Amino acid sequence: MITVLSGGTGTPKLLQGIKEIVNPEELTIIVNTLENDYFSGVYVSADLDTVLYTMSDIINDELWYGVKGDTFITHERLEEIGCPELLRIGDIDRATKIQKTQLMEKYGLAKACEIQARNMGIKSKIIPMSEEQSDIKIVSDIGELEFHDFLIKHQSKPEVLDVKFSKVSPAEGIIEAINNSRAVIIGPSNPVTSILPILSLEGVREALKNTYVVAVSPIIGCDAVSGPASKFMNALGIEVSSVGVAQLYEDFLDNIVIDDKDSNMESQLKQIINKVTITNTIMNNLGVKKNLAQTIIDSIP
Ligand code: GDP
Repeated sequence: MITVLSGGTGTPKLLQGIKEIVNPEELTIIVNTLENDYFSGVYVSADLDTVLYTMSDIINDELWYGVKGDTFITHERLEEIGCPELLRIGDIDRATKIQKTQLMEKYGLAKACEIQARNMGIKSKIIPMSEEQSDIKIVSDIGELEFHDFLIKHQSKPEVLDVKFSKVSPAEGIIEAINNSRAVIIGPSNPVTSILPILSLEGVREALKNTYVVAVSPIIGCDAVSGPASKFMNALGIEVSSVGVAQLYEDFLDNIVIDDKDSNMESQLKQIINKVTITNTIMNNLGVKKNLAQTIIDSIP
C-alpha cells in the first residue's frame, strides 16, 4: 500500500502520474478538508472533489477545480435571480456536491466520499482527513478573512500576517493507512493550508516517523509554482524554499524531491534530510507527471 497526502492542485497533478504506474487498489489518498464549508446551499469540499475528479479522469486540469467541459446554467440563473455565488460551481460539479451534501448528512463525510468514489469507478481509497468542521482564518492587513474570501474575493492580494486554524480529529482509518503503507508520499501541495492540517491531526506525525516518507517540494527557488503558499509560509516564519519545506517535515521525512533548478540547495538539504532527489518537478504534461511518479516509486526502499 502507498499513501498520498493531498491538497487540491499540486498533488492531484502528481496523482495523474501515480495512477498510471501504481495499482489503484494499492493506493490510499488522504485529503485536506481545512477549507470545507457550505456555499449556495451545498457542502463544498474542493480538494476532495478535485481528487475524485482526478482519479476518475474528469478533472478540469486547467483550473484544478471542477469538471472538464462543465456548463454553468444553474450558476448563471442564480446570478440572474439575485443569488450571486462566491464560488462559480458548474452543473456537473454541483450534482456531485448535492449528492455529497445529502450523503454526508446521513452517513458523515468519509462514508459519503467512499460511496461517491465507488460510483465514479475509482478503485483507490480516498479518505477526508477529518469528519469535523475546521475553522480557518487568514489574518491580513485588511483584517481577519475567511479563507475563500481571501482567495476569491480578494484574489490572495492582501498581505498575510498569520494563518489560524482549529485542531480537528483524524477520520477513521488514517493512522491505520499510514501504518500499513510501505511509503507515504507528500505531494507538492501548499505546506501551510493543505499539508500542515493533515500533520496536525493527532497521531499522524508519530505514525509518519515509523514509515518511509518522501515529499515533493511545491517551492522552486524562493516562490511557489502557483497559489498563495509563499505568503502563508512567510506569515508563519517558514523560509520560502525547499529548505523551509524540509524543515517543516524534518522530524519524519526520509527523502525530499526538489526541482533541477534548485540543485544548488542539495548540500544544505542533506544536513536536514537523509536523501535528496533532484529532478524535473514542473508538471506541465503527463510525461513529466509519470516520470516524477516513477522516480518517487523507484526511491522507495
Ligand atoms: P490548493 O488546495 O489548490 O491550494 O492546492 P495544493 O495545496 O494541492 O497545491 C498548491 C501547491 O501546489 C502550490 O504551493 C504550488 O506551488 C504547488 N504546485 C502546483 N503545481 C506544481 C508543479 O507542477 N510542481 C510543483 N513542484 N509544485 C506545484
